Amino acid sequence: MSQTITRYDHDRESLAELLHEHPAYRVDQLWRGLYDDGLDVEAISTLPKGLRGDLATLLPAALENRVERISEGGETHKWLWGLPDGDAVETVLMHYTGRSTVCVSSQAGCAMACGFCATGQEGFRRHLTTGEIVEQVIRAREAAKPRRLSNVVFMGMGEPLANYDATWGAVRRIHADLGLSARHITMSTVGLIPGIRRMATEDLPISLAVSLHAATDELRNELVPINKRYPISDLADACQEYVDASGRRLSFEWALIDGVNDTEDQAKALASLCKRLRAHVNLIPLNPTPGYPTIGTSSDGVKQFQRWLLDRNTNATIRRNRGTDIDAACGQLRASQSSGEQSVAAPRRR
Ligand code: SAH
Repeated sequence: MSQTITRYDHDRESLAELLHEHPAYRVDQLWRGLYDDGLDVEAISTLPKGLRGDLATLLPAALENRVERISEGGETHKWLWGLPDGDAVETVLMHYTGRSTVCVSSQAGCAMACGFCATGQEGFRRHLTTGEIVEQVIRAREAAKPRRLSNVVFMGMGEPLANYDATWGAVRRIHADLGLSARHITMSTVGLIPGIRRMATEDLPISLAVSLHAATDELRNELVPINKRYPISDLADACQEYVDASGRRLSFEWALIDGVNDTEDQAKALASLCKRLRAHVNLIPLNPTPGYPTIGTSSDGVKQFQRWLLDRNTNATIRRNRGTDIDAACGQLRASQSSGEQSVAAPRRR
């Protein structure tokens, strides 16, 4: 299916082409309006009215605000956006002391089928375009004001490395046109080795996070099915390649599932992997999703798991579950808007 070209799919050259009959400064005005000021085309008052009308048709927005929720205190802000073809994706903006981070989606749905993930339970629908990803960042940047949007993480819906070209196109734009430094952009992946290797050849050393969740193939095959194709030892080699090429520290994401991946054996195996790769671990208790019959590890269990890692000289931070009160965690907003619950088999407790 051909996808609608929306306003942030254009780079400066293609905007210049659209305006080739107009003086060159019109391109600057349009560019400033879209990129620096995050305005709708109709609102770019430096452009003549007639031209604004024409451009508004040529440069439609990708995202229509369907649901918007702000948590108490305003620290978490979440959107469910309608896309031109009627699909929907989520974006979450989170404010911390000293930084504001937006979590963007890269696909509608996801083909990776991780049972504990709300998006994985939906299945894959389509890739997002570069413009659809960049627009999420722009909308969040505008909403963050007067705070400065400082970080972008590809941890929303979808597997970004399965949509490499569009995602990397967005990374370039976020860096070059929106001015975020490479280390403040984080790619989060389920562990697609070809994508990680390709990232190692790029000239932007962004941060890499791998959603590990299990440190033995036996358990990871069950939690993260793509592990059967890209097992842990090969994944570790690809990660090493990226760390060597980029000079960035690697992090592992680990959603703690009660009785499943919160054991001392897993902590031990994880610590030895981290030692080899000099990786850092982000721990988060599993967020409940409609289709998965298990719960997150208790807060004592999370602290115990962290202790096991720290005792083995492995750096591990506990992440707070942000925005559970507004369905902001992991695909919950979209899931709460659609009917039809699916069910995934429970993993065996260890
Ligand atoms: N596909 C990419 C990015 C999207 S998921 C990836 O796998 O990294 C972003 C993060 O949220 C991943 O670490 C993912 O494993 C985690 N996640 C998914 N469902 C979750 C849940 N129910 N609770 C906690 N973390 C979850």
